[in-house]
Parts: sequence; structure tokens; C-alpha cells
Amino acid sequence: MKRNAITVSPEEMTRQQAFSEEVRMMPGRPESYYVVTYGCQMNAHDSEKLAGMLENMGMKAAENREDADFVIFNTCCVRDNAERRALGNITWLKEVRKKNPGLIIAVCGCMIQEPGMAEKILKQYRFVNLAFGTSNLYQFPELLYKTLNSDHATVVVDNEDVIPEGLPILRARKESAYVTIMYGCNNFCSFCIVPYVRGRERSRDLSVILRETEGLMADGVQEIMLLGQNVNSYGKDLSDEVSFSLLLKELDRMGIPRIRFMTSHPKDLSDELIETMAGSRHILPQFHLPVQSGSNPILEKMNRHYTREQYLDRVQKLRNAVPGIGLSTDIIVGFPGETEEDFRQTLDLVREVGYDSAFTFIYSPRVGTRAAILPEQIEEAVSTERIKKLIDLQEKLQQKTLSRFVGTEEEVLAEGFSRRSNKAVSGKGTHGVSVTVPGNTEDIGRIIRCRITGLKNNTLTAERI
Ligand code: SF4
Repeated sequence: MKRNAITVSPEEMTRQQAFSEEVRMMPGRPESYYVVTYGCQMNAHDSEKLAGMLENMGMKAAENREDADFVIFNTCCVRDNAERRALGNITWLKEVRKKNPGLIIAVCGCMIQEPGMAEKILKQYRFVNLAFGTSNLYQFPELLYKTLNSDHATVVVDNEDVIPEGLPILRARKESAYVTIMYGCNNFCSFCIVPYVRGRERSRDLSVILRETEGLMADGVQEIMLLGQNVNSYGKDLSDEVSFSLLLKELDRMGIPRIRFMTSHPKDLSDELIETMAGSRHILPQFHLPVQSGSNPILEKMNRHYTREQYLDRVQKLRNAVPGIGLSTDIIVGFPGETEEDFRQTLDLVREVGYDSAFTFIYSPRVGTRAAILPEQIEEAVSTERIKKLIDLQEKLQQKTLSRFVGTEEEVLAEGFSRRSNKAVSGKGTHGVSVTVPGNTEDIGRIIRCRITGLKNNTLTAERI
């Protein structure tokens, strides 16, 4: 065994369950809750765990945050604007408290884990009752119990690389479920705060993931989304025999209709993984492969450990093995030192790959990361100009790449009614693109076979087969 991380002991989880019971029985405890989520799918899934624990403590979800007795902000600090938005909304809740003096306000997630943030919350946001870091999530019942029994704020931020198992989860969707396969990241991309706030890579045991999936299948879940900051590294901390490919093969054998995963690091995308995808029945033909930049000098400064050529080689291998695969990416513009030539190379790469979608961001310096102290920070006006050009290009190209689906057959997992019509439902097709198809309430949560007939604003329209 190579593992350094600590799986939280069953005794500790039982202890937390006892605190949960204490809160449930407490006279005058909050009756309703509201969870505000910022950031990525990992955070969205953590919010499902918070909701699960709150329901265990006897609380019910409020329709909106103004009506809740307990509001918890699950924050993100990957970009400066997510952080500012969270702090702005927390401050706004201070006003709500004037109308509802019993309101309890809590803050958790990545932002709290930033150096100095807990102290800042204690000093500048005195109306916050409870704050805790990402490693303390499983202690939430105990922390809430303490908060409800104290006149002072409770603030706990540990840095232990723990793996909590057995937390209750209130899933947001019935047909599709997040399954965390690993926590943390070892890559230290120079722009990214994640390794500092989420700790080092630690994988959940393969048998535990398979058991969780079995339970989801028994509940009628049609799709799992495997989550990790870098899923391609799964198992490296467990043993030489365990890998992401092995996990995928095992899940594929179990027969859950749809398997998706994110996020992948191009440097860890192995030939074995590509072959596993090609030979599978249930892994969907889609891949989110963040490139971040198309310029080698910038990739090096970003500490990404691949070149533009190596990235393009991975894309080609994926396309050869899984023809028609849906590709998406993340791109940062305005990284320190990015020249016009570097940016041109990014545009060229986007043209060459032809992504089905791209998440584009202006570089946002994060205190504590290496890129934040690099010279040649780019002026905001330049970055804004560049991101506009990039978005324009991607939108034009996307029309062309998505039109390849017109006339083909697809299977869509209906998530809900289409925003434009209550006679149509929409959801993701197997390639990861949104599809709208005629349907009704009974179709929601089901997989619908259809033929793509057109393309409107990056959503495919379809008829049923
Ligand atoms: S791989 Fe890089 S960008 Fe992704 S979480 Fe890790 S450090 Fe951040």
C-alpha cells in the first residue's frame, strides 16, 4: 500500500452521527436550510453531502435563502470573481438577519481554506456563525452542534488529507449522479490554487466506488459522472495494480448505462485509457481535455508538463480510437508574459482541434500561487480584447463542429423541460452536447433515442425515433 491519506474511521463517523442526532433533538434548532454553491462539480457534490447531513439533522430545504433559518455558502476560490461574489452575498445576508435574528450563517469550501481567510472571516465578517475548511466537511454535525450551543463563531480549518466515507448524500438529480473517485491534486499548475486548498491526491478504494455505483444502479440511476481534479491519476496512491483504466473497465462491466468523467490532465492521458474507452460499451464518447494555452513557452510557465504537439497527439489518438468523440476544453488568456504570438498560437490550436465547447477564462492571479508573482502581468484591457477574439472564434467554429451531428442518431438523457417549450425535454447526448427533443414529464430521467434534425444556439434539436 502506498497511501498516505487517512480514511476517516468508522468510529469517528458514528460519533458525527451522534452529533447529528443531538442537533435533531435540540429545541429551537433551525428548521430549514439553504445551500449556496459556487464553483465546480466537486463543490456541487459537496453541497449534496451538506444537504444530506442537514436532512439527517431534521432540517428541510427552503425555497429561497431569505426564508431559511440556516444558510451555508459552499465557496470557490479558483478565480477572484467567484470569491468576490461569495463575500458580497454573505454580506448581503447580514441585512436578512435584521428581519430574522435567529438566522445562522455558515461558510465552507475552498475559500475558507485559503491562508488568512479564516482570520479575515473572524475579524471582518463577525455576523458569520460558522466557518470550516474542505477537510472538515465530515465534521459538520459536530461543528453545527457547537455553534448552536455557543455565543461565539466556530472556525475550524485543518489541512489533513482525509477521505470521508459514508456521508449521507441528497442528490440533486435522480437519473444522474456524481461519484467522487479521488480528492486533491499534485500538479501545482502555476496559476492554480486547488492543490493548496484541496490537498494532495488521494484515491477512494476501488471496491468502495464499485459498491456506491451498485447502490446507484439499484436506485435507477442511468448515468454516473466520476469526479476528481485529475481523474487520470486515479489509483497511483493506492497500488501499482490500480489505475483509472481498471476502474473504468470494472464500472463498464457492471452495466450502468452511461459513464462520464472529469477532469483529465493531458500529461496523464495514457494510451491504455484511450484503448479502454474505445473498447467499452458504457463510457460515453466525450472527453474534457483542458489545454489552457496553445503556446509552448506559456505551457511551460504554467507548469503543465506537455507541449502543444503532445496535446495534439493525444487529441489525434482519441479521435482515431473513438471516431466522432465530443471534445471540450478550458483555456486561459492573459497569463503573465503571454505575447500576441502566444495568443495567436492558442487561436491556431483552437482552429486545429475544433472543440464542441470551450470554457474560456481571463487569467486571475491567486495569492500563494507561483504565477501570481511572475513579472509581465497582462493589462486587463489586453486580456479582455483577447478573450473576445477567442470567444468569437470558438462560436463560429462550434457551429461547424456541431453541425456534424445533424442527420445522426443520438441517445439523450432527459434532464428536464426545454427552456423554450413545455412540449420538449432537453439533456445531454452521448457526445456531451445539449439536445432538445419533443417529450413530456414521463420522459424526464429517461434515455430517449432520437435523430438530430438541426442546430440552434449550440443546442441540437431532434425528433424521436
Ligand atoms: S491539474 Fe492543475 S489546474 Fe487542475 S486542479 Fe491540479 S493544479 Fe489545478
